[in-house]
Amino acid sequence: MSNPTQKPSLENTQLKDIVAHAKEYGFVFPSSEIYDGLAAVYDYGPNGVELKNNLKQLWWRAMTQLNQNVVGIDAAIFMHPLTWKASGHVDGFNDPLIDNLDSKKRYRADVLIEDKAAELAKQGDQAGADILLADMGRLLTAEDLGGVRQLIIDYKITCPVSGTANWTDVRQFNLMYSTQGSAVEGDAAQIYLRPETAQGIFVNFLNVQKSARMKIPFGIAQIGKAFRNEIVARQFIFRMREFEQMEMQFFIRPGSEMEWYNKWKETRHRWHQAVGLPAEKLRFHDHDKLAHYANAAVDIEFEFPFGFKEIEGIHSRTDFDLSQHQALSKKKQQYFDNDLDPETGKPYGNYVPYVVETSVGADRLFLATLCQAFTEETITEGEGEKEQTKTRTFLKLHPALAPIKAAIFPLVRKDGLPEKAEQIFDELRHDFRLIYEDRDAIGKRYTRQDLIGTPFCIAVDHQTLEDDTVTVRHRDSREQTRMPISELRSYIGEAVSFRRIFEQL
Ligand code: ATP
Repeated sequence: MSNPTQKPSLENTQLKDIVAHAKEYGFVFPSSEIYDGLAAVYDYGPNGVELKNNLKQLWWRAMTQLNQNVVGIDAAIFMHPLTWKASGHVDGFNDPLIDNLDSKKRYRADVLIEDKAAELAKQGDQAGADILLADMGRLLTAEDLGGVRQLIIDYKITCPVSGTANWTDVRQFNLMYSTQGSAVEGDAAQIYLRPETAQGIFVNFLNVQKSARMKIPFGIAQIGKAFRNEIVARQFIFRMREFEQMEMQFFIRPGSEMEWYNKWKETRHRWHQAVGLPAEKLRFHDHDKLAHYANAAVDIEFEFPFGFKEIEGIHSRTDFDLSQHQALSKKKQQYFDNDLDPETGKPYGNYVPYVVETSVGADRLFLATLCQAFTEETITEGEGEKEQTKTRTFLKLHPALAPIKAAIFPLVRKDGLPEKAEQIFDELRHDFRLIYEDRDAIGKRYTRQDLIGTPFCIAVDHQTLEDDTVTVRHRDSREQTRMPISELRSYIGEAVSFRRIFEQL
């Protein structure tokens, strides 16, 4: 076996290779594909659902198991419609939309301008790009949609399809999906599919605080579906209309928000590295334009094949949400803080808590993980005249994330080897997600496992029958080591355990 030369994947691999791989090997399928799919909606296949569940478990346990003061909930997708009035989503959850009259294509005006800025930066005009983005930020904050359109005209931004600048006016488009709740009357008849999971946490703040006897500072974590009628859907599962969020709202004393904001920013940055995203492909991006609820906000971005893009947002949301719910529901959303304020020597008393939020998309994290894991390397096999060079594709997933932890292969389908292999499979299946396979040459079986990221392949051969040892073949190095069957459980268990990840946090 020679030393492989591995190509760094992101530079060389187009997103389309990853999309094709995801479909072919059971990670992600287009939704309702037999009807030609539904734009920006995707289904997870047999390997995809395992990988996604592992990512979600890692997040859930890092939040609730490692932090004594973070507990979880699972709120309903439907909520009272006033929730969305209070949160500002009914009036303000809009994207600026523009149509090209020749191609009839629809765009987000801010994305067209951001693309133009990226083009300027690429041409070396970083200052020009910064000015353009700052102008856009100013116009959007002032809700000057005419000004945004003028910017598009002034910078000669054209439609990528028709090539013309024949644009409509810019208008605001609300991203929430709504439906009729037939059991309620009047205004409440219109209910929404939640556009974020956070509000299910805010409206349960007091229920959780009282029932779980939580003391500030404490957090509430939730994983669940969210829905947004995104104007432009592109880049595979990066921007979906139905997606999953993993959000944690951390309730704190007013005035302590910057301390907690910085703490969670660092903690979440470390978490992404611990699950396998390298530091050089992660960066922070401070928001130029703060959302209506925030007094500080930063994105954690990952370098996808299509550039650095947001995977997680950390927001200091002040007391905006709880105060809004207090005003609309007319129910106090206050906390009595018994701790003594060192300045006055008296308890801090009653207040509406401030909140720092961490919000990561499970699907974007999945895509980042897949992009990072997708590896193509050139290897040389055989010796002398039989030597040949080929490309090996494999998913270099952290073993804790891999859909299948180990594959068990009898070398041949005779001589009692399948029976022995099945016996090992039976012994380990209570601990790990495994695959047993006896079809095709062993090399082909290794390749199939490489393609889905299985970290270990266990081969049972004639020697196994004599001394109860097997060969363990390692996905990344392709090296094989001989090991007693009795050691497999602890060996695999150690490699796939979440503990090794948690120790880095
Ligand atoms: P973007 O600017 O990319 O639209 P956002 O700032 O609106 O994202 P947030 O509202 O902060 O996103 O949502 C938190 C996280 O939820 C994002 O970091 C992202 O991982 C995920 N997310 C948001 N919208 C989508 C979507 N349409 N598809 C998949 N994931 C999404």
